[in-house]
Amino acid sequence: AKEEGKNRYRVFDESLDQGMIRRLGLENDLRRAVHNQEFFVLYQPKWDASSGKAAGMEALIRWRHPELGIISPAEFIPIAEETGLIIPMTRWIMGEACRQNQQWQEEGFEPQCVSVNLSVRVFESQNLLDMIQCALSGTGLDAKYLEVEITESILASDIQGIISQLMKIRELGIKIAMDDFGSGYSSLGSLDKLPIDTLKIDQLFVREYESGSKKAIIQAIITLGKQLNLELIAEGVETIEQSEFLNGLGCSIMQGYYYGRPMNEDQIREWLSTSTE
Ligand code: C2E
Ligand code: CA
Ligand code: CA
Ligand code: CA
Repeated sequence: AKEEGKNRYRVFDESLDQGMIRRLGLENDLRRAVHNQEFFVLYQPKWDASSGKAAGMEALIRWRHPELGIISPAEFIPIAEETGLIIPMTRWIMGEACRQNQQWQEEGFEPQCVSVNLSVRVFESQNLLDMIQCALSGTGLDAKYLEVEITESILASDIQGIISQLMKIRELGIKIAMDDFGSGYSSLGSLDKLPIDTLKIDQLFVREYESGSKKAIIQAIITLGKQLNLELIAEGVETIEQSEFLNGLGCSIMQGYYYGRPMNEDQIREWLSTSTE
């Protein structure tokens, strides 16, 4: 039994090492990835169920690692945040999303707003505003077709500094959405201080909408959003039942696999040509 115990520990240690080795490797590779353009962007549609039309898209980053294949942002974004590489990475995706959006418009597709995710860490880089202005002026995209998504975690840091940056971003004509709302830091007390346009209802609640407590939370978020004059969007909508439930409560804009997975630029062209009539 003693031997067994020992082996178990050894196995545990080895798997821990494997995890650390992969992490350290990824950290190194990430430095190179920004430089070598190993990232690409997929766009996930947003859909307005009340008008039956496209309601924008969200830009989601992907990493095509030369040896390991496609790596999920859930794995590399935390590393990018810790190392600060999130800043050049965000500069890249912001520029790319604006360029692509402008290109679709020039091809004649009906203009759509594209949103880009911002980690709290990028607000610490003093030139976030410059970064955004450069992306717009470099591509010619009208600011009203750009949105940024932030999370409640910003409330845990220098809130005044962040509010003033958000206000400047908004003055450019860019919309601001609160992502994953309801899942993080409880922010009800600060919500009315934040210059935001949209609440995105976290997919956690949508997934379990049939449970009484989750249903109550969704209803409360929708009521709150309407009272504060915010636009509402539900994330993670995978079924017609979820869609009908949300629409019935007055949240008609939705995002999720039921309406479309994250797609490449050509798949978006196809989607735009059938969803904007
Ligand atoms: P998020 O911003 O909450 O994005 C939504 C995530 O849910 C995406 O995962 C999307 O593919 C997935 N999703 C969408 N609809 C459904 C659905 O119906 N069912 C399920 N199960 N999942 C759905 P993804 O692309 O893997 O991104 C994960 C997270 O990584 C994002 O969560 C965001 O926090 C972060 N992320 C992605 N791209 C960027 C980026 O460019 N910058 C930053 N800072 N973070 C990013
Ligand atoms: Ca998001
Ligand atoms: Ca989200
Ligand atoms: Ca999330």
